[in-house]
Amino acid sequence: MIDLHTHTNKSDGTDTPRELINKAISMGISLLGLTDHDTTAGWMEAAQSARGSISLALGSEISCLSDDGTSVHMLGLLFDGNDKEMQEMLEAVRDGRVPRMQKIIAKMQAAGFDISMEDVEAARPPGATLGRPHLADALVNKKIIKSRDEAFQGMLNNNSQFYVSHAAPTPLDAIRIIKKAGGVSVIAHPFASLRGKILKAADFAELAKAGLNGVEVDHRDQNPDERGMLRNIATELGLVVTGASDYHGSGKLNALAEFQTSPDQWEKLESQANQRRVVST
Ligand code: AMP
Ligand code: ZN
Ligand code: FE
Ligand code: FE
Repeated sequence: MIDLHTHTNKSDGTDTPRELINKAISMGISLLGLTDHDTTAGWMEAAQSARGSISLALGSEISCLSDDGTSVHMLGLLFDGNDKEMQEMLEAVRDGRVPRMQKIIAKMQAAGFDISMEDVEAARPPGATLGRPHLADALVNKKIIKSRDEAFQGMLNNNSQFYVSHAAPTPLDAIRIIKKAGGVSVIAHPFASLRGKILKAADFAELAKAGLNGVEVDHRDQNPDERGMLRNIATELGLVVTGASDYHGSGKLNALAEFQTSPDQWEKLESQANQRRVVST
């Protein structure tokens, strides 16, 4: 079983890296991708927790913004964690999330909600990449809403009046920096339309030309039609096809390994990194 896209409490998941690895081991997952948003903070704990037959593909899900303002998530896997340009890009995105959260909160306060940055900070685990799920948790703590899911159905949705984007690299920049750091890039849930504006089929050629390695096809936020279209795009452009859970612990319904990547597609993806960086014990 190969699941290439998961989150821990180093971003907006709820498991610690150790808890995630333990769950993956007990489920019999052979290869797990660790892809917290805009950070590599969980890598060391994850690597130290690995044992037995599990292998790890360490990575990050990089929040990007295309020139026309479309939010794009780019999975970087198997890159050199010490690469300076990569770490600077991740840090810049994390830094941009703080003023963005302050703007969202100011809008909510102006609309009469009793919520503050302190409430959000209290809901964020130490060192975690700040995100809307932490604001959702703060709203739950204050009994303004019932769950993260309710928040994303309504006031924290990308189409909501409170939505604010944050500074982020373009998808092309992210692909280039991941590649320079020796890793591979897989565009995450590109047709997940419930989240807001999505890429167009024609956008993929440019990404492939810049060095995109794969497309996340099998993901719960993409319906069978959308998966079919993505599979065709991937075939046409010679891109690897992946499937993954986007597991967030109890923060989302997604179950670990609910979608998977086939071993042959993983082999093709891994061969495109500049060296073998899979962690195994
Ligand atoms: P942000 O990174 O601050 O823009 O927040 C986006 C994050 O919210 C994504 O990583 C999603 O995993 C998470 N998210 C989106 N929809 C939901 C939902 N319905 N329930 C829980 N988390 C969600
Ligand atoms: Zn997330
Ligand atoms: Fe994502
Ligand atoms: Fe994700």
